[in-house]
Amino acid sequence: MTTKEYIDLEEKYGAHNYHPLDVVITKGERVWVYDVEGKKYLDFLSAYSAVNQGHCHPRIINALKTQAEKITLTSRAFRNDQLPLLEKEICELTGYEKILPMNSGAEAVETAIKTARKWGYKIKGIEKDKAEIIVCSNNFHGRTITIVSFSTEEQYRDGFGPFTPGFVVIPYNNIDALINAINKNTVAFLVEPIQGEAGIIIPDDGYLRKAFEVCKDANILFIADEIQTGLGRTGKLFAYEYEEIKPDILIVGKALSGGTYPVSAVLSSKEILGVFKPGDHGSTFGGNPLASAIARESLKVIIEEKLPEKSAELGKYFLDKLKTIKSKHIKEIRGKGLFIGIELLPEAGGARRFCEALKEEGLLCKETHENVIRLAPPLVIKKDEIDWAYERIKKILENLD
Ligand SMILES: *Cc1c(COP(=O)(O)O)cnc(C)c1O
Repeated sequence: MTTKEYIDLEEKYGAHNYHPLDVVITKGERVWVYDVEGKKYLDFLSAYSAVNQGHCHPRIINALKTQAEKITLTSRAFRNDQLPLLEKEICELTGYEKILPMNSGAEAVETAIKTARKWGYKIKGIEKDKAEIIVCSNNFHGRTITIVSFSTEEQYRDGFGPFTPGFVVIPYNNIDALINAINKNTVAFLVEPIQGEAGIIIPDDGYLRKAFEVCKDANILFIADEIQTGLGRTGKLFAYEYEEIKPDILIVGKALSGGTYPVSAVLSSKEILGVFKPGDHGSTFGGNPLASAIARESLKVIIEEKLPEKSAELGKYFLDKLKTIKSKHIKEIRGKGLFIGIELLPEAGGARRFCEALKEEGLLCKETHENVIRLAPPLVIKKDEIDWAYERIKKILENLD
């Protein structure tokens, strides 16, 4: 079948809730993907950072196959021999005392919200049904009704009401707004250390640290959504490490499975995750043995292949190089590690046409909002592959009218 035939099928039978680039991928290896016509592309999105370890990492695929042949799902009505090992390993790696495993990122965010609310009622003593969670404008935390209830993106909400109450939206990167939004019913502040979907928005140095201190003083939980920024993407295992803080609740997903399977988790202390009693919360697939075995190996690959260090080093190299590009379209280039955004001027005609031109050059990028090209290759990328990508990005930014 041709590219066009696959696209026609999808247009006909699929719901049109995405607007993908017209490339039909059939195979992937490390940083490269191949389309059904046999054309090869460098993946510069990494499935929104789920594939930090590279496509079909042999160790992760091996863990998947080995576990799949033993047992895949017990449900948590029974115990399995993989989850306890994941629990121990991820807690030792991150320094958290407890984990609650889920599947998708949005489910982990929902779990963190439930955790914070229950903590508010049970430990902090908030009056019934009064809990408030502070979030930031331009946030992205997923797509459930509760999560889009506090999105500031009109399209994410349009047609989906009525919404879940109990959220207060403040501007990102604004400490006074946080201080002013806190009241006796506030239980938590939920924040992305870098706003990925908003277009790689990096707050001022010190913002997260100050926000964390404000939360401590007010006895409210600081919740970091590191589903996209975590697990090496920004040049540290977690982006919060840049500010030498320890969020009360940490949300992880995406690269926790190296892109092979949906695995997410909420990490926190004994006291905070201790609010759950049997029956309070759950998921049929959460913590299943296949997911646990995959997550264990995915974490080992990140650490043993030093992916955070590679991201820091190559990210800096790449960012410095990108900043030498002279193009009338560029407004700003910013990034941390291999998490880089090229913001185009409004008159550039949108990032989409640049991504389409880059695709023709063999580089797969995705526009983020109207005007940002996000550059986030798998962290196993090599320097000469960055150079290869750089030449193409430079050519398109300099030559496209
Ligand atoms: C992707 C993402 C989510 C949602 O994860 P899903 O697996 O798509 O539900 C939540 N928060 C952030 C920061 C993300 O990047």
